[in-house]
Amino acid sequence: MAAARRIIVVGAGVGGAVVARRLVAAGHQVTVIAETPVTAAPTSVDLHEASTVDRVASTPVQRIVGGPLVPYPRGRGWAGSAAINAMVWDRPMDDVVPTRMVDTAEIGPVSAAVLAADPLAAPVRLSAIDGLRRTPADDLVDTVSVVAGEVSRVLIDAGSAAGVELADAQVLEADQVVLAAGALATPLILLRSGVPVWGRHLVDHPSVTIPLALRDGRGGDGAFPVVTVESRRRDGRILVVEDLGDPHHRTAGLVAALTSPTSAGTVGLDPETDAPVVAFDLLRGDDLHRLCTLVDAARALIDLPDVAALIDDIDSSMIGGADWVMHQVATTSPVYCHAASACAGTVGRHGRVRGLANVAVADASALLATPAGNPMVDVAQHAAGVAAAIAAAG
Ligand SMILES: Cc1cc2nc3c(=O)[nH]c(=O)nc-3n(C[C@H](O)[C@H](O)[C@H](O)COP(=O)(O)OP(=O)(O)OC[C@H]3O[C@@H](n4cnc5c(N)ncnc54)[C@H](O)[C@@H]3O)c2cc1C
Repeated sequence: MAAARRIIVVGAGVGGAVVARRLVAAGHQVTVIAETPVTAAPTSVDLHEASTVDRVASTPVQRIVGGPLVPYPRGRGWAGSAAINAMVWDRPMDDVVPTRMVDTAEIGPVSAAVLAADPLAAPVRLSAIDGLRRTPADDLVDTVSVVAGEVSRVLIDAGSAAGVELADAQVLEADQVVLAAGALATPLILLRSGVPVWGRHLVDHPSVTIPLALRDGRGGDGAFPVVTVESRRRDGRILVVEDLGDPHHRTAGLVAALTSPTSAGTVGLDPETDAPVVAFDLLRGDDLHRLCTLVDAARALIDLPDVAALIDDIDSSMIGGADWVMHQVATTSPVYCHAASACAGTVGRHGRVRGLANVAVADASALLATPAGNPMVDVAQHAAGVAAAIAAAG
């Protein structure tokens, strides 16, 4: 085996966990920089409990041109967004995390009604085993060095990574830096390092959530799991969310999401304040029309007798249409958060940053194509490829 290299992995989310684990297995000396909280992966499956332990952070973003800034959520610390997300894996990845199809008994009332009536609806695959949230970061804390902190930039010496600088000005030296700080944070770190982030490549799956107030005594009681059924359509998906977390009302919801968008935006830095400037520029071209078609399909599900019987009366004619959909996407903080690809023009094969030696990107920002659905599988596969390329280079 080649000599062990000192490798810094920035971020302990899906991509960071996969790449760190594989580089340790290849014999390298790996230090993971994790934002606090840095404790072991969460074992709770309750999204709302996760938020109370300070695992949710957000970045102000603009969703459509001319729209207001809204918070875009992400997971902070150990396991990253896998610590707060809906745990849906589109395909099994047994060497990354255990997954299983949901059991019929776990399917809540609204999901069951949709499943019975919609031939395109099907149960999902979850990384929740025996009541525990499982993530790619499970047990990783036992095998790597961990430094708690926030990376501000990569230190570059003569075109090659020499280490990283943290927000508290601490400097850590390394032979190789792997950025895995997530879809929005990694391009910001590159920009703060003096590396341009090229092109309009930032993508997301634009979505609309239709809240459904549940009639007294039915479901929506925070019972695990949050998403068990989704309906796969030609251009996107309709998810049933059994509990939207409203503490005052029992509220389920339907999320209509366009998973084949063509719109793309940018991540930048304000030159005066150094603050993130994130513009998704969603719903350009025929994306708006295609999301409207998905919202119409979701509205048809609400009108099904078995679904209507579970929810308070709702005037579904108020839902849908281009103006309503644009307003919802522009002004609401999304629950379907699949940001990716901002660095697609900046990285080459295996996430290598073009024009720089010993820097690679192993997270959602490096995906070269828009994720076709739930992105954790794509991110994990990309990170495994980054690790294999670094290991092969010795
Ligand atoms: C609410 C929600 C629900 C979702 N549901 C699903 C789902 O069900 N299925 C699915 O496949 N995908 C889902 N996703 C998307 C999925 O979680 C992400 O695509 C995936 O986690 C991306 O992995 P990543 O490694 O790029 O980033 P992350 O997993 O977000 O990890 C980034 C890591 O970097 C750290 N970090 C950030 N900035 C810095 C810094 N400056 N210095 C050091 N560390 C830093 C963060 O603390 C975090 O640990 C959801 C996302 C959200 C927010």
